[in-house]
Amino acid sequence: MNLMNQMNDVVVVGAGMAGLTAARALAEAGMKVLVVEAQERIGGRILTQHVGGEAIELGAEFIHGRPPELWALIEEAGLETYERGGAQIYFEDGTLRDCGGQMDGVFDPLEKLENFAAPDISFAEYLEREEVPVEDRGRLIGYVEGFNAADHREISAASLGAQQKAEDATEGDRIFRLRGGYDQLPAYLSQRIEEYGGTVVTGVPVKEIRWSPGRAEVVTASGSFVAAKAVVTLPLGVLQRGDVIFSPPVSAVDKVASRLRMGQVRRFTLLFRERFWESLEPQPGLSEMSFLFSFSEMPPVWWTPHPERSNSLTGWVGGPRSIELAGMSAEQIAREACAALGKIFDVQQERLASLLVGCCTHDWQHDEFSGGSYSYVAKGGLDASMRMTEPVSGTLFFAGEHTDVTGHWGTVHAAMRSGLRAAAQILEASAASQR
Ligand SMILES: Cc1cc2nc3c(=O)[nH]c(=O)nc-3n(C[C@H](O)[C@H](O)[C@H](O)COP(=O)(O)OP(=O)(O)OC[C@H]3O[C@@H](n4cnc5c(N)ncnc54)[C@H](O)[C@@H]3O)c2cc1C
Repeated sequence: MNLMNQMNDVVVVGAGMAGLTAARALAEAGMKVLVVEAQERIGGRILTQHVGGEAIELGAEFIHGRPPELWALIEEAGLETYERGGAQIYFEDGTLRDCGGQMDGVFDPLEKLENFAAPDISFAEYLEREEVPVEDRGRLIGYVEGFNAADHREISAASLGAQQKAEDATEGDRIFRLRGGYDQLPAYLSQRIEEYGGTVVTGVPVKEIRWSPGRAEVVTASGSFVAAKAVVTLPLGVLQRGDVIFSPPVSAVDKVASRLRMGQVRRFTLLFRERFWESLEPQPGLSEMSFLFSFSEMPPVWWTPHPERSNSLTGWVGGPRSIELAGMSAEQIAREACAALGKIFDVQQERLASLLVGCCTHDWQHDEFSGGSYSYVAKGGLDASMRMTEPVSGTLFFAGEHTDVTGHWGTVHAAMRSGLRAAAQILEASAASQR
């Protein structure tokens, strides 16, 4: 069937969680929906590599807390999850320690942000203002930059306050994983869209969106797709680079998007023949190791899939420090990482190299269809995401994690919420036009 030039109710640009969630809601409501995706695969920043029965996540990995829309989908799709637990280990001053409750108090300045009042300042300015002891700053900066993929000199203190509140409301301190891989979610959504009569086309990069009130034409190298409305879920990095031309330009959106930042992360998973760290007992807690923080090393954060038994260790660096690993091949990263692990665990690097089976990674920074990892709010930009939710002439609707207005930027559930919001806006507009 030739899909070009057929009139659709809605064309959705991008088959990540925002686009697929919007398309599913619209198709379920009886609309004629077409999803246009640049890559040959769906899922966007959900990217699971299946290696020898293990699901290795190269993009999103965790379910942060109990966000209801994400859990409803997991339940509907009948997927299995497990909760992360185990010991949090710190490597500091050449020593490994099970941190237990010893870090209590260090993160108080972050908790206090919940009551942050305007005017907005950066997190760096906030640390100064609060006179946070210098010895605690490294950990706080490490945490904020790692979690938010952000530069602490740029990220908005007000947005961190909103994030703290949002996480408290969804039990954000609990972390879950999808057994079998995150990629099951986009696959399930795509299947539902097709069951409801919608279509998902892949391998078709959109070059231009020509629009006028009541008509959106999505132009690709092989032809155009037409609809009465478009949901645009291009990642912030792609929007900011201007890779997709809007004709006429949507200057309000350009202006607003410039107040958000696309963060940077490099993550990689090393697969070993055995869990060498367990045989290093009597080091405290290593057999139960969940997270390992080594803020002075590169990467500063590691984790295992504990309590799932696995021989893998995942390394993570977010924010400006990730530049050190930008552009490196998996082999180069594995070499550097084994050197760091050798130092942390006091094991010969050569021994680690001989136990290494492989290194899985994806360079999001140089991925032309994401242009980075996930968004954060720059100082003074707290209302930018809200402004991006305003429909343009009742025809263009923006969605994607960067348009979340609930304080959960940069997560899978933020992407889903934005998709549900865009779908609701369209359904409401179409109901109003029939009244
Ligand atoms: C390394 C990493 C780790 C993460 N960890 C977590 C985590 O543990 N938990 C969590 O909740 N979240 C995590 N996230 C964030 C989460 O993955 C994202 O917030 C979410 O998946 C974004 O969904 P989206 O639909 O907004 O964007 P995307 O998933 O990026 O979807 C946008 C789609 O648009 C497509 N596209 C781009 N350009 C074009 C074009 N020109 N034409 C057509 N299509 C185009 C892209 O290919 C993509 O499929 C992580 C992200 C990264 C990168």
